[in-house]
Amino acid sequence: MRNFLLLEKIKLMGVGEKISELKSILPEKVKLVAVSKTKPNEIIMQAYNAGQRIFGENKVQDLAEKYEALPKDIEWHFIGHLQTNKVKFVAPFISLIQAVDSLKLLKIINKEAQKYERIIPCLLQFHVALEETKFGMSLEEAKSLLESNEFATFENVEIYGVMGMATYTNDENQVRNEFRMLRNIFQILKNGYFSTSQKFSEISMGMSHDFQLAIEEGSTMIRVGTSIFGDRNY
Ligand SMILES: *Cc1c(COP(=O)(O)O)cnc(C)c1O
Repeated sequence: MRNFLLLEKIKLMGVGEKISELKSILPEKVKLVAVSKTKPNEIIMQAYNAGQRIFGENKVQDLAEKYEALPKDIEWHFIGHLQTNKVKFVAPFISLIQAVDSLKLLKIINKEAQKYERIIPCLLQFHVALEETKFGMSLEEAKSLLESNEFATFENVEIYGVMGMATYTNDENQVRNEFRMLRNIFQILKNGYFSTSQKFSEISMGMSHDFQLAIEEGSTMIRVGTSIFGDRNY
């Protein structure tokens, strides 16, 4: 892949150095979410001490423990599938829920946010990859969510944009097309539903192996784990 040499170089550095190296090559408007799932607090602090403030987690229990233990100026993003019965554990502090894929989930987030008198920022997750998965909406599903009477009553959630994952493949054209598809979805929703929203501005796409393509295709937010923290042991 085109970023092979860069990734080889980055592999040899410490976590703090990797953060600095990544930030130095990112366009200014692209946010870096350091995906710290499975990683211990000491390692997360190495990234924090290098200036990183946005971290992504995909397990509610781990996230709640890390939130308690780590500095309070960290912005935590929930990047995985969020079960409705667990929303209450992240509602007090979460900065962005990245993977909202149903009206039902959004309704619960709205309800829990209300209890804390918060407005919780959310991204709508889309399924653009070839791989079968239960998660992520189609454009049609998103439209019906956004046009529902119920959505119009939600005062404690705000949609900041879209999120998606490309197929895990070396076929650059395939990956590029999927990122382009997500960007198109963003634009259609922006024009149709969010033309007056200042907040609807994020396209979260790109991971360790494909973030350079994602940036070329208009990503505003990349979610990088392995290239910062190394391989995960589950
Ligand atoms: C784990 C994960 C990432 C990071 O993946 P890497 O390949 O380690 O960079 C990004 N997005 C989501 C949704 C993830 O679950």
